[in-house]
Amino acid sequence: MSVFRSLTAGAMLAVSTLAATAPALAADAYPSRPITLVVPFAAGGPTDVVARAVGLAMSKQLGQPIVVENKLGAGGTLAAGSVARAQPDGYTLFIHHNGMATAPALYRKLQFNPLTDFEYVGQVVDVPMTLLGRKDLPPKNLPELIPYIKANASKLTLAHAGLGAVSQLCGVIFQQAIGVQLQTVPYKGTAPAMTDLLGGQVDLLCDQTTQTTAYIKAGSVKLYGVTTLQRLKAMPETPTLDEQGLKGFQVVVWHGIYAPKGTPKPVLDRVNAALKVALKDATVRQRMADLGAEIVPESKQTPEGLRTWLKSETDRWGTVIRAAGEFAD
Ligand code: ASP
Repeated sequence: MSVFRSLTAGAMLAVSTLAATAPALAADAYPSRPITLVVPFAAGGPTDVVARAVGLAMSKQLGQPIVVENKLGAGGTLAAGSVARAQPDGYTLFIHHNGMATAPALYRKLQFNPLTDFEYVGQVVDVPMTLLGRKDLPPKNLPELIPYIKANASKLTLAHAGLGAVSQLCGVIFQQAIGVQLQTVPYKGTAPAMTDLLGGQVDLLCDQTTQTTAYIKAGSVKLYGVTTLQRLKAMPETPTLDEQGLKGFQVVVWHGIYAPKGTPKPVLDRVNAALKVALKDATVRQRMADLGAEIVPESKQTPEGLRTWLKSETDRWGTVIRAAGEFAD
């Protein structure tokens, strides 16, 4: 029932009582129209894949469509800024990754504060990354790739999704690990970066398995390793970068769902309940498992689980990034 209709039905209520109960009524009626889920990168990319799979399962719980809106630019920070300024009514939600924790250290003039401008719904999945090359890149494995890169550094390009993207972070760690600086090419998501890798316009890309698995299976890219310390269940024959000599190389992408600060608690509870059910959905679980992604434990699928994790990641990456001195305005 819409808030308007429920108010007319209860017309004998005094105006003062109406004012006092308005937030509760709004929450009861929620959601009465489609919800927008903002994705900070291009459609078809890894964050988008998670958003659409989980969003669809959540929409079944909420009884309203969840419409994905891809808001691109500045490594995800433009989308985050717009969500921070959106109406806190539950009709704007936001999914992001590690970029929420790295942005404060990366950007001098950030238009939002991840720790004070949002409400937290919960964490979603953890996703490993893969280091890929274009199909016709000569090296067959990481031990061959490293000397090849060193010999051809001035000619090779590394794609990423902008400052604050995990592809950029992974690329920085990789270049540091092998002691080489490559020419980098920024995109507004790793979907367009992948298109150019497939087309041979760029040479290397580090990206989440939620996008790369299909291309790896099709044999349309060269796979040099996974960024976890253990091999993945979804691709057990693929060695880790760590076991191939890049000791301690680990980048795991975590996704969380947010809402603008001030979104009413009953609304957040409703969205969180839908998230928890969605993460138990057999189709979602199978799809994530096939793509190498791991649904986070229930204790992390909570506002507190996300808030605590974001804080610890913000502290951790802030120190690393400030020491490395990689900034933008
Ligand atoms: N994989 C991207 C990143 O590097 C984001 C995306 O397109 O989902 O952050």
